[in-house]
Amino acid sequence: MKKHNYSAGPCILPQEVFEKSAQAILNFNNSNLSLLEISHRSKDFVAVMEEARTLVLELLNLEGKGYQALFLQGGASLEFLMVPYNLMKENGKAAYLDTGTWANNAIKEAKLFGETTIVASSKEQNYNHIPSKYTIPSDANYFHCTSNNTIFGTQMKTFPKTSIPMVCDMSSDIFSRVLDFSQFDLIYAGAQKNMGAAGTTLVVIKEEILGRTGRTIPSILDYEKHIKAESMYNTPAVFAVYTCLLTLQWLKNQGGIPAIEKVNEAKANVLYSEIDRNSMFKGTAAINDRSNMNATFLLENPELQESFDLMWKKAGISGITGHRSVGGYRASMYNALPLESVQVLVDVMKEFESLYCEKSQLA
Ligand SMILES: *Cc1c(COP(=O)(O)O)cnc(C)c1O
Repeated sequence: MKKHNYSAGPCILPQEVFEKSAQAILNFNNSNLSLLEISHRSKDFVAVMEEARTLVLELLNLEGKGYQALFLQGGASLEFLMVPYNLMKENGKAAYLDTGTWANNAIKEAKLFGETTIVASSKEQNYNHIPSKYTIPSDANYFHCTSNNTIFGTQMKTFPKTSIPMVCDMSSDIFSRVLDFSQFDLIYAGAQKNMGAAGTTLVVIKEEILGRTGRTIPSILDYEKHIKAESMYNTPAVFAVYTCLLTLQWLKNQGGIPAIEKVNEAKANVLYSEIDRNSMFKGTAAINDRSNMNATFLLENPELQESFDLMWKKAGISGITGHRSVGGYRASMYNALPLESVQVLVDVMKEFESLYCEKSQLA
């Protein structure tokens, strides 16, 4: 039976990425060797890394603008500490916007390095919106924000103007929408949400912001060392990087970010219209801030959970159980999820309403 995979991460990737990466494990580039058994310094793999790094900058429209793309390891979680290590001066200061669990984890690490100001937080409202009024201290070494809050289903639609370097965790919405990416000085994203297999983290850095801290940085955590080594300072996560390359090629063939943005908007519109219309459900995120990637919603009557769960499972839907900190449901609609899968979910929601609406009112 066809599955409709709404997993929040690791998540759905294009079918052709699964097929081509499976093929590369058996016989990479007709070499009769597996991608997994060749040197990362071999011509064939160096070409993979180069093309992946170039495609990132091309798709983000950052070519020739002083940026470097790296495929590192340790997940987005390691970036939580690499960012302050590389950008916060000795006795310096950083500013963070607290929009959810991941932002909070980033803040925890920054505090290990120096004074960390939280410019605003929506924690008191269980992160159901993005704070809009705040000022960024101009004496901070950088400002850090999270573009999409995977767990709470909120997404920053605009970004503040600031004179200090802006760092953004884009783990769950990179390559999903058109933005002026040059407003950011450092972008990072764990691959497993919208880009490839788990095991690598994309970091895009404007080179001129590096080397200003006065800190001695351990080599493996030093962005400048990774840039100098062309993202091969140590053995990269070869399989994960290869799946990223395949996904980026797929994205380019779809028409790049502008084309996928239209599809993502269409999917989000179909689902949110139903959440808003259907008397059995309610969304958890403030309407203006809700995410086009992760839609979070609850049942009006939680006693009907078992009945609803049976219905969507029967329809082949997988991975929509909400994160424990919000409860209810979370439908993650990353780039590779087709519109048809969203239609299947919406049809189940409609059918659920027609079967249980009255019962729910009596309850
Ligand atoms: C999943 C996620 C992370 C954590 O990523 P890891 O690669 O598992 O470390 C960080 N930030 C955001 C926004 C995420 O969605």
